[in-house]
Amino acid sequence: MAPHAPLVLVVEDEPAQREVLSYNLRAEGYQVVQARDGEEALILVEEETLDLILLDWMLPRVSGIEICRRLKARSQTRSLPIIMLSARSEEIDKVRGLETGADDYMVKPYSVGELMARVRTQLRRTRPAGVGQKLSNQDISLDPETHRVTRDGHDIRLGPIEYRLLVMFLENPGRVFSREQLLDRVWGRSVYVDTRTVDVHIGRLRKALGAHGGSNPIRTVRGAGYALG
Ligand code: CA
Repeated sequence: MAPHAPLVLVVEDEPAQREVLSYNLRAEGYQVVQARDGEEALILVEEETLDLILLDWMLPRVSGIEICRRLKARSQTRSLPIIMLSARSEEIDKVRGLETGADDYMVKPYSVGELMARVRTQLRRTRPAGVGQKLSNQDISLDPETHRVTRDGHDIRLGPIEYRLLVMFLENPGRVFSREQLLDRVWGRSVYVDTRTVDVHIGRLRKALGAHGGSNPIRTVRGAGYALG
């Protein structure tokens, strides 16, 4: 797995704007994923472990303001920083008035330098030094800064759901989590996911952790759920 740079989602329907933003973010060393409309944005929020969203106000399908409202209403995405981009200052006034919870706002045409400075500010706020301390349990270790997971020195490749599951287990060693608790914490309360989905992802996590040998570290607790160690 490549070292983890912050992952930024650019949601912008105008291709030229999207490319300029992405180019500048990559030049600053960030990883970038792009969405052309609100629906794509919501899918990417589910699939990726994002660090920040640059969100255009005027979008096809689902508006920027609606996306912001939805993400800020969910416990799982509430702390994900959102910088709203808008064509007109009256819209920004409306964003403030609507209290959508956006973390910052910029009016187009904005200075790219100023926008990058605000991106850095938001990321410093949510990824402060010290929070990125390594988590470990027996021979498993996880670095939240780089998203690197190793077991007995071997790199372990995990999907975003399996990664979040492992973070939760490592932060709470020995604690038994029910399937419902795992759904709440890893998927988010407002997303409808069957509890069997939890079993599927636990299975994937176990398989990944066992890729280079070693015993299964995730215990099944009959009638209760799952625990690490
Ligand atoms: Ca637009």
